[in-house]
Amino acid sequence: MTIESIAQSAYLVAALLFILALAGLSKHESAKSGNTLGMAGMAIALVATVALAIDRKIEPMGLGLLAVAMVIGALIGLQRARRVEMTGMPELIALLHSFVGLAAVLVGWNGYLLVEGGASPAESLALSAQGTLGIHHAEVFIGVFIGAVTFTGSIVAYLKLSGRASSSPLMLPGKNFLNVGALVVFAGLTVWFVISPTLWLLILVTVIALLLGIHLVASIGGGDMPVVVSMLNSYSGWAAAASGFLLENDLLIVTGALVGSSGAYLSYIMCRAMNRSFISVIAGGFGIEAGPAEDKDYGEHREVTAEQVAEMLNGADSVIITPGYGMAVAQAQYGVAELTRKLRDNGVKVRFGIHPVAGRLPGHMNVLLAEAKVPYDIVLEMDEINDDFPDTSVVLVIGANDTVNPAAMDDPTSPIAGMPVLKVWEAHNVIIFKRSMASGYAGVQNPLFFRENSAMLFGDAKDRVEDILRAL
Ligand code: NDP
Repeated sequence: MTIESIAQSAYLVAALLFILALAGLSKHESAKSGNTLGMAGMAIALVATVALAIDRKIEPMGLGLLAVAMVIGALIGLQRARRVEMTGMPELIALLHSFVGLAAVLVGWNGYLLVEGGASPAESLALSAQGTLGIHHAEVFIGVFIGAVTFTGSIVAYLKLSGRASSSPLMLPGKNFLNVGALVVFAGLTVWFVISPTLWLLILVTVIALLLGIHLVASIGGGDMPVVVSMLNSYSGWAAAASGFLLENDLLIVTGALVGSSGAYLSYIMCRAMNRSFISVIAGGFGIEAGPAEDKDYGEHREVTAEQVAEMLNGADSVIITPGYGMAVAQAQYGVAELTRKLRDNGVKVRFGIHPVAGRLPGHMNVLLAEAKVPYDIVLEMDEINDDFPDTSVVLVIGANDTVNPAAMDDPTSPIAGMPVLKVWEAHNVIIFKRSMASGYAGVQNPLFFRENSAMLFGDAKDRVEDILRAL
């Protein structure tokens, strides 16, 4: 058996492990083993790739560079993964997607310089003898395009998610025309490049794709960012698959296609959950127009103290807790779990209502509550609990905002109009835990805060929950 065939078999095993990893990650109970399978697959893939490079007589200089790159990459990866807070996960993922995009651009450019640019006449001759030179031109061009869109799109997503750039959508005049125009120009340039692969065409498509990536993601409002993250995940998969074709690496093609298709499916599911048009979001907010500036007077809000809330909870029959991003920021999940235990011991029916995009990544709240050992059977999805609010004595909105905003249902001009929300205002009493009257991630004011049955409990969610625990 040659090293080549062993490495190809190892690639097949790694691909199977990746598929099993995805299957494992789809359920709470098997998520940990799913992660382990994915890590094993990646380790096998790395060893096989290095073995292949040695077998193909890589120069000592190249091998040295490979070793240095792997060590630096592993160190940065370990350090970032160890340090990252749960709330910082989406921005880290966005940043990692940008690396995949950049790698695809570099692989594409390298392919061009070797073959079309004439640095490796032997490779160029071999491709033209096989009659696949035209396919190579197309692979280079498409790979660079997808990679560059992913690269800059992910950087803008990183900036928006980390709060370094505004989460409101960029509204350039004729923005739909710009996006569609860029795609049409790309299609035309691809045909041109396949016929005549000149350097300036590659430079042009790289610049167009970099700008398109920025514009696509900048045009999307804060409320729709969850879909953008999964969409960029999908793009990064296709970028990796494009690199796989260029490098003739089957594993990269399989893995890229897995990530690309699962990311696209996740985006589709999230669009359905949020009542958004899939096409509109992947086309950079196509058809979404800016709502009118907010100058509404919502009236006065009411404030309560932790002691008053404790009293209210003492007299309650049933309580629903709807957590959001603020609970993650405050790390209030342990106090919330303790509060749940105490209330249940006192005979109060306590349940959780989880919005599909609460927090900053899919399943964010479920992970936090599971970490704090809240029983799974009282943690319900939005659709399972949304009709139960009228029979609920008290709702505790802990650091949630956009996901409980009635404007999504009542105000057709709102940027979050049409998004299904938790109908907390139908309960007898609503207590909102937050630090100020500031708006949520989508940047829109929440009329819930001014309703007659609502009251604000200001301060850090963790501190306030602890105050209630003391008072109970
Ligand atoms: P929001 O982001 O709308 O609001 C969170 C609220 O928490 C804020 O109003 C903030 O108010 C409050 N808060 C922050 N820190 C604290 C603290 N320490 N103690 C108490 N309150 C705090 O939260 P939601 O979960 O309701 O909505 C999620 C939003 O994020 C949606 O718009 C969604 O589309 C978007 N998103 C979701 C992603 C996902 O995959 N789930 C990914 C990307 C975006 P204040 O500052 O006054 O305290």
